[in-house]
Amino acid sequence: MFDHSSFDAHEGVHLFHDAASGLKAIIAIHSTALGPAAGGCRMWNYATGEAMLRDALRLSQGMSYKNAMADIPLGGGKAVIWGDAKTDKSPDLFRAFGRAVESLQGTYITAEDVGIGVADMQIVREETAHVAGLDEGDAASGDPSPITAMGIYLGIRETAKRAFGTDDLTGRTIAVQGVGSVGGHVCEHLAKAGANLVITDIDQAALSDISARTGARIVQPDDIYDVEADIFSPNALGAIINEQTLERFRVKAIAGGANNQLIVPEMGELLRRRGILYAPDYVINGGGIINVCAEISGTYSRDWVDGKVKALMTTLGQVLDTALENDEPTNLVAGRIARQRIGRTD
Ligand code: NAD
Repeated sequence: MFDHSSFDAHEGVHLFHDAASGLKAIIAIHSTALGPAAGGCRMWNYATGEAMLRDALRLSQGMSYKNAMADIPLGGGKAVIWGDAKTDKSPDLFRAFGRAVESLQGTYITAEDVGIGVADMQIVREETAHVAGLDEGDAASGDPSPITAMGIYLGIRETAKRAFGTDDLTGRTIAVQGVGSVGGHVCEHLAKAGANLVITDIDQAALSDISARTGARIVQPDDIYDVEADIFSPNALGAIINEQTLERFRVKAIAGGANNQLIVPEMGELLRRRGILYAPDYVINGGGIINVCAEISGTYSRDWVDGKVKALMTTLGQVLDTALENDEPTNLVAGRIARQRIGRTD
């Protein structure tokens, strides 16, 4: 473990096995320097235990960075459950997971992530109070996507200000990949601001709906990388900035909500060399975790959430300015600030 390439002085890496329900889970706690470690629970049919461990280590570190940049009193952690989300779920499995979370006595707070829904988390809640993102309860914050999307829209404007000298999006062409919970709302904000949209998705119904509401032009999923536009906004998959797509981008900036957009961190420098201004994903998409944090506090306040999202966008602006001034990749600057905030000075 201590020699693992994704190990970054994680405070704790906990393995859980429950023979009766078949639960195999890892809860990785990267840092609690700023507060209890918060991050969703992912259910995925990993090829190997090693792949599962790597995911837990990397995702929990990512949550430390995201929460630090959002300036909220939460550390970084993540849970992964090994299994097929379509066939391997059972109430017993989620109860066993709830007991695992409970055994950590509040140092880790769980929520939904890929493969996990609110209904699953309601079962986890039967065993532990350290759950967020629920629909019911005093401070339940529900779906975080509209807040995430609002942050991304504001972040696109911050990015445009640096790339084009103005945050006025009137007449700007923006290529949007993914028009789901987050991307759909982003499109509506952008259309209202006067942008011309080119959109793609693998879900035809979602595409037709957003196109009808925003006047967006639709392209095939793989063609989105070749669209000549001002900004590319990825809101679907991770790792879409890679060796293959890098040469195809015909944009001046990339700003969108998808997690883990860079296949490897070195892509940040390659984007910089191509003159593409990149808004680091875990900075621009922090609206959702801010919303969850408001729920964890026990007294949800929309004003507090809006204030934090606004402050996060000021931070994004500072990251972009510093990177431009120093000729540095934006992800490097953001990573440096995040590590400082959690007291990692290496
Ligand atoms: P979602 O599942 O509602 O939407 C994703 C959309 O991407 C779907 O419409 C899907 O059909 C589409 N898609 C899948 N594969 C595609 C492909 N190959 N080409 C084009 N489109 C494709 O998910 P979401 O909640 O909108 O999240 C989108 C991204 O934002 C994810 O990476 C997620 O991790 C990230 N994110 C979401 C939130 C949030 O609040 N929901 C917060 C932070 C980050």
